[in-house]
This record gives sequence, structure tokens and C-alpha cells, in this order.
Amino acid sequence: MSERTAKYNSEEIAGIRRSCAAAASILQELVAYAKPGVNPLQIDEIARARIRDAGVEPAFLGYEHFPAVLCTSVNNIVVHGVPNEHPFRDGDLLGLDFGVVLDGWYSDVAVTIPIGRVGTETQRLLDVTREALDFGIAQAKPGNRVGDISAAIQRHVEAASFQVIRELVGHGVGRQLHEPPQIPNFGKPGTGPELTEGMVIAIEPITSLSSPHVRLAADGFSYETTDGSLAAHFEHTIVITSRGSQILTAVDT
Ligand code: MG
Repeated sequence: MSERTAKYNSEEIAGIRRSCAAAASILQELVAYAKPGVNPLQIDEIARARIRDAGVEPAFLGYEHFPAVLCTSVNNIVVHGVPNEHPFRDGDLLGLDFGVVLDGWYSDVAVTIPIGRVGTETQRLLDVTREALDFGIAQAKPGNRVGDISAAIQRHVEAASFQVIRELVGHGVGRQLHEPPQIPNFGKPGTGPELTEGMVIAIEPITSLSSPHVRLAADGFSYETTDGSLAAHFEHTIVITSRGSQILTAVDT
């Protein structure tokens, strides 16, 4: 695998677009099942069924030995949570991260949702992190650099007195799940690789209420905040176009 950032042509982007549409559509359906009393393994089972129905393959199953098709990250688990049998409780935060492979093309998309009713501060973390994704995407255009995306995300999150996680980054995506360049959620405008038409990247602000750092949890897959604080994560796969960018994992609601 080359370390060079891939630039995709229109036919290739059409393939990635189909993969992204399938992933986003399945994820949207999974969100509707996440309720108090349901457990993460049940959501993973539904995801497996929808993958079969759609005629696609899971992108995460087996990736670095990950045992599920879906990451379910609850509360202080930041990303890469392994689906288990612990039922969701009212007030939990649930991160769902999902991707598929279609005709060899990868997709990657994530949301964080409240289970039942969450507190005001928790809801604000969700709102700010989702807004940070929008601000990051707004900087994704030809001539800008990766640091413009990173800085926009960091500025919005820190203005709300929350933290961006330093150890986890966005990435290129297409022929592989993770390709260059890395897209950190902190940085300086005008620095880093230049963004050019045809690049496909996953932008994913990953935040917490109070800790900028994570550590690997006991299961060997999931990352948890070092201070136990709640975390949020939103992600879209986008393509850089001649005029700006287009979100490939958007869903009609
Ligand atoms: Mg990703």
C-alpha cells in the first residue's frame, strides 16, 4: 500500500459513493433500534442482516481482528467499542461507527446518539461535536490544507470548553479503510497536506467533556477517556470537488 494520498477519478468516486450510500442508509436504520433495554450485540446482529440484504461486505469485521461489523461505544468509551450484551440505559451516550465494502470500495461513517433522555451538558457535547464536523467539512476544498480542517474543528470544540482527542484522527478512504492523509482534530491553519480535487477523506471530530487523551481499554479494542468523561464522535466520508466538497455518507431524512 502506497503512503501517497490517493486521488480518485469520477468512475472510482461513483463506486465509493455507492459504498457510502449503503453504509449511511444502514446506519440510519440502526439508530432507530438503539433504545433503553436493547443491547449492542442486538444492533450488531441487525447490521449483519442488513449487510446481507444489501449485498455488501462489512468493512470493520476482522480489521485488526475486530470481532463485529459495527463499533458501539458507550459513554466514556470513545471509539472502537465492541458490541456486548449490556443493555443500553436511559441517559447513555452511544457512538455507532460503521462502514461497508462494495465492489472493493470502502466507506466510513459515524454518529453519536442519546439513549432516552440525556443531560443538558451531554446534549451540548453532541451538538458541538456535530457542528465541529460541519465546520471541518466547510474547510475541505481545493487549495486548503488538512490543517484548515483540523483547526476549524479544534476552534469550535474548545470555544465550547470541550476537548478534542489527540490520539485519534480522520483519514483518507477508498481502496482501503484507512489511507493517507491523517486528518487530526487539532492543528494550525495553512499547514499539512494540500487538499485537491478527487481526494476522498473521512473527517471525524472525536471529543470529550474534559479529557484530551484516551487509553486502550481492557478489551484490547476500545479506547476510553483517561478521566472517565463522556465522549462523542461524528464522521462523514466526503470527496473534494472542483468547487469545495460533497458529503458521500449523508442520508435523506
Ligand atoms: Mg473513520
